[in-house]
Amino acid sequence: MGKSLTRKIIESHYVSGSMIPGEEVFLYIDQTLTHDINAVMTYLAFEAIGLDRVRTECSVSYLDHNLLYVDHKTPDDHIYLQSAARRYGVYVSRPGNGICHAVHVARFGAPGKISMGGDSHTPHGGAIGMLCIGVGGMDVATAMTGVPMRLKMPRVVNVVLHGRLRPGVNAKEIILEMLRRVTIKGGLGNVYEYTGDGAAALEVPERATITNMGAEMGATTSIFPSDDAVRRFLRAQGRETDYRELLPDENAEYDEQIVINLDQLEPLAACPHQPDNVKPLREVEKKPVQQVFIGSCTNTSYADVAKAALVLQGRHVNETVSCTCAIASRQTYKALMHDGYIDMLMDAGLRMLEIACGPCCAIGQTPATEGIAVRTSNRNFKGRAGNPNAKIYLVSPESAAATAVMGTFASAEDILGANVAKLAGIREPEGYDQNDNMLIAPLPEEEAAQVEIVRGPNIRPLPVPEVPEQELHVPVSLKAGDNVSTDDITPASAEFSSMRSNIPMMSKFCYHRYDPEFAERAKAMGRSIIVGGENYGQGSSREHAAINPMYLGVKCVIAKSIARIHKGNLVNHGIIPMLFEDSADYERICQEDILEIHHLLDQIPEKRVIVHDVTQGFDFTVRLDLSENEIEVVLSGGQLRFLKKQLDG
Ligand code: SF4
Repeated sequence: MGKSLTRKIIESHYVSGSMIPGEEVFLYIDQTLTHDINAVMTYLAFEAIGLDRVRTECSVSYLDHNLLYVDHKTPDDHIYLQSAARRYGVYVSRPGNGICHAVHVARFGAPGKISMGGDSHTPHGGAIGMLCIGVGGMDVATAMTGVPMRLKMPRVVNVVLHGRLRPGVNAKEIILEMLRRVTIKGGLGNVYEYTGDGAAALEVPERATITNMGAEMGATTSIFPSDDAVRRFLRAQGRETDYRELLPDENAEYDEQIVINLDQLEPLAACPHQPDNVKPLREVEKKPVQQVFIGSCTNTSYADVAKAALVLQGRHVNETVSCTCAIASRQTYKALMHDGYIDMLMDAGLRMLEIACGPCCAIGQTPATEGIAVRTSNRNFKGRAGNPNAKIYLVSPESAAATAVMGTFASAEDILGANVAKLAGIREPEGYDQNDNMLIAPLPEEEAAQVEIVRGPNIRPLPVPEVPEQELHVPVSLKAGDNVSTDDITPASAEFSSMRSNIPMMSKFCYHRYDPEFAERAKAMGRSIIVGGENYGQGSSREHAAINPMYLGVKCVIAKSIARIHKGNLVNHGIIPMLFEDSADYERICQEDILEIHHLLDQIPEKRVIVHDVTQGFDFTVRLDLSENEIEVVLSGGQLRFLKKQLDG
């Protein structure tokens, strides 16, 4: 049997380990990326490791999420990040250049490379035949040292796309259909590799909508072949020399196959409060919509925004709707401006925002209480938009524009009728603005060594976890339900995002919206355990969802299942992730029960640990779904201690 594209790329970066799905493989990483609201911890960790310069082919620090500068915290972060980048040989993408994923695929990505990014939507770059993996910031710091990175060898699922999307139906519908079928946790351990005549007909930005939002399935990543569409995209970026054809073998072997007929897709919506709660848009109850946001890295390509503009052309945003647009990159914004689409949007009464993540991660444009927000972004968890009482629906840009006009859920066809066909004529430009003057290139090594790192008052030291002890006798500080997201653990919004460099301050808001008393309670307990349900820690790659509980004394998380990136973050930051062997035991444990573990350090290597619930008087078993390498990290007291031992030794 032939090889999948995923296998070919993994083989070309292989260092050691096993190529059997589920087992651990170690790979060279070519590129890394970070973004401003998570990266301070990453660069503090890199500083603590003690190397003089990054050892990747290219590492980029994007200043893109929080550009509001409402107080000193974000400028403190940006100045620190810029100086750390200059010191260690990292590119900086300045505020206003664009959102990390959109800029990275356009200006740095190349087929066949592997990148690791400190953001869960790093798989965006899979659109050009790269293997792009979202991880926590500590893993990015590790990748920057040039140390081969561990990866659980994925299962490779072949998604065969047939046919063509009808006008008014967007690539967003493909990934929403995938989410409907696979669900938010069904992708764990999988890479989704797209092929078929329908895949070949999609342009790179359409593919990126799919690979970007594949993160919502919990997948390791998603990837498209590097073919003519990729060549066209790179040529339009003035980078055709970076193109190389990369396809799966014709008789490639896959672990599973999914088939989607694109002609049969219709406009869809992910309804509150999960991205897999997908319905046909026509079936969504026609309630008044308070806010429409056309933005985010997921769905603001040139063609996306131009189509939305054509839906709005000659019409007006409904007077009951607040409608905004944030385009993902400066080059796309300029192309849309050049071709008159920004005028169309503004003439329709839509408000243009900065080129930044902004509202996607609750930095501005919070919906009203109980307000219905319709967004083109990728997540609709409670509180994702900054107000846990709001209801977020995820749709395509065409549907969002139609909804803005109607004031309730509508598709492009509802507005344009037979004229919806004109949307099919929109194509990506043949050339983009290639001015990289908002990228700062790394300094030569000697000059870089002289750079002083600037630490404003918001830059606080990186907390380092304790080494685990043999005996644990601690209370349960929280019994959480299913699908707790990293947004639940560390809330998003301008206020909280800018605290991420200051753990003593931010930890006070740990689980703030989920259980406002958690932080006080955990702190008073000193050391504790969190008990969770299914899919614990889903969502973003935010390692603060591990650092804050660690800082508050949490030693273990015992859950029915734990999301991939969050599990890695727990390991890296010294919290032991444990899984109930029998999920029914979850029901028997109460918050504040005392749990006891004897001989913990001896039990960890066995990957099975007996826990005694002193309060309820019963024993239960937990599994450690950890590789040998992760076990060593856990026993070392986190990745920083482990890595320093390795590099020093
Ligand atoms: Fe930014 Fe939202 Fe994309 Fe994350 S998902 S990188 S917050 S636009």
